[in-house]
Amino acid sequence: MQNHVPKFVFVTGGVVSALGKGLSAASIGALMESRGLKVAFLKLDPYINVDPGTMSPFQHGEVFVTDDGAESDLDLGHYERFTGATMTQGNNCTSGRVYQRVIDRERRGDYLGGTVQVIPHITDEIKQVIFGAAEGADILICEVGGTVGDIESLPHLEAIRQVQFDVGRAHTAYIHLTLVPFIKTAGELKTKPTQHSVKDLRAIGISPDILLCRCEVPLEQALKKKVALFSSVGEDCVFNCADVASIYELPIKLHEEGLDTKLVEILNIWSRAPDLSPWRNIVEVSRNAERTVNIGVIGKYVDLKDAYKSLNEALNHGAIANNAKISLTFIDSETLEHDEASLSCLDALDGVLVPGGFGERGIEGKIAAIGHARRHALPFFGICLGMQTAIIEYARTVAHIAGANSQEFDPSGRAQVVALMEGQKKVTRKGGTMRLGSYPCKLAPDSLAHRLYGTDLVHERHRHRFEVNNVYREALKEAGMVFSGVSPDEGLVEMIELTGHPFFVGCQFHPEFKSKPLAPHPLFAGFIAAALERQASRPQNEPTGAK
Ligand code: GLN
Repeated sequence: MQNHVPKFVFVTGGVVSALGKGLSAASIGALMESRGLKVAFLKLDPYINVDPGTMSPFQHGEVFVTDDGAESDLDLGHYERFTGATMTQGNNCTSGRVYQRVIDRERRGDYLGGTVQVIPHITDEIKQVIFGAAEGADILICEVGGTVGDIESLPHLEAIRQVQFDVGRAHTAYIHLTLVPFIKTAGELKTKPTQHSVKDLRAIGISPDILLCRCEVPLEQALKKKVALFSSVGEDCVFNCADVASIYELPIKLHEEGLDTKLVEILNIWSRAPDLSPWRNIVEVSRNAERTVNIGVIGKYVDLKDAYKSLNEALNHGAIANNAKISLTFIDSETLEHDEASLSCLDALDGVLVPGGFGERGIEGKIAAIGHARRHALPFFGICLGMQTAIIEYARTVAHIAGANSQEFDPSGRAQVVALMEGQKKVTRKGGTMRLGSYPCKLAPDSLAHRLYGTDLVHERHRHRFEVNNVYREALKEAGMVFSGVSPDEGLVEMIELTGHPFFVGCQFHPEFKSKPLAPHPLFAGFIAAALERQASRPQNEPTGAK
């Protein structure tokens, strides 16, 4: 890069939400990075929650956890998966956090005598966040949550408008993602919603440089010309953002459209042509692999795929690492609670995974499924709550600890094999009070965990309150449970496994947050390998693939 003033790319959305703004921003990041630029990201969220940590996954999807313990928006997961950038507290900022800082300052008396207003105080604070996130990078990709026209997003849009004024036109690019719906009855693509959305954007002073049009069928040149005309952008600045079979195809598609070339031209950046061959290889595997591995995910938020975004992707990466496709069956654990027969749906699977979660609902179903996997040599992977429920199952069934449970579900129970840590006992506030972020984990030599990671010490991300209760560690160990990963002081159990089972692994942390398509996480790669082995050893006429 020829100078050290970072460039700013702002990604806004119009017409409707859920157009894939996060994925588009991440893909643009991947393209810029493969051109040799140092990329940073920022997600501005318009809601009043200070962070998404206290929001239900039903409402907001997954909470993505960073190394430094930020409970953040799931788009940060896309940014990390698509690039080498590492997200921190500073890469996601909500209106709630901005207002909290400004109000704290007002209470301290910093504005004494002044009236505290949206412009300039709130907008200045947002700009501080933007400039902070861009520090040290060649290019900041800043995604503004919500859609243009929302009352809530106005301060953010005003702030990003001002950035152009502050740093100069040659340092900013505004990309607007809109929907161009295909109206089946008319057999036509309609550009009117895009026209209105661009009009709204211009009304608040932002002229888009690039329009990214989500559409089922590609926009033809004539339509691009029409969109360009009413948006006052060049015809070559209107791009298709077509549906893709695999999300990892998006950087390739956008490159084929010429988006990255246009963007560096607008920003006056001199950079090399991108090398997208790693992305092409992944897409190739996702498309052409001959084997399909069938994994059951047993959880609570099964109707909402966004709740397990990173997990689904990590499983996908594990499949890619094994040259296979993946088919996921989401099973509501409550349906497994009735009897042994209700567990028969697991037999058609090649492996089961119990993900993280909170609250008692469906716990007994998870425990029953884990017992089934343990007895039937079905590969099992338990993450956080998934590991805690595996401990409960083993304690009850193998170690014969009567009434074994977690303090979370049985607060007055006698046999709390999973319990609060000393330091957490006095905590009553819910926001940001968990064990959060990256902690080291020491792996036992000769364990499966050690073989998979191929190293003695790993760092993984956490988000939980409860831990394996050390009072029961000896009894569990005597009954055959292997504590394959512990904190460096050995005070906390981080990983468990069982010998004599093809793959029975639990971890207190969330490995899914660190898996990337170009660097699949070893635990997911190992789990999928075991599942594929099970599939291969199945008699020919037995069904594969659960319904
Ligand atoms: N509810 C459990 C705890 O707080 C597990 C949390 C999780 O799975 N992320 O410890």
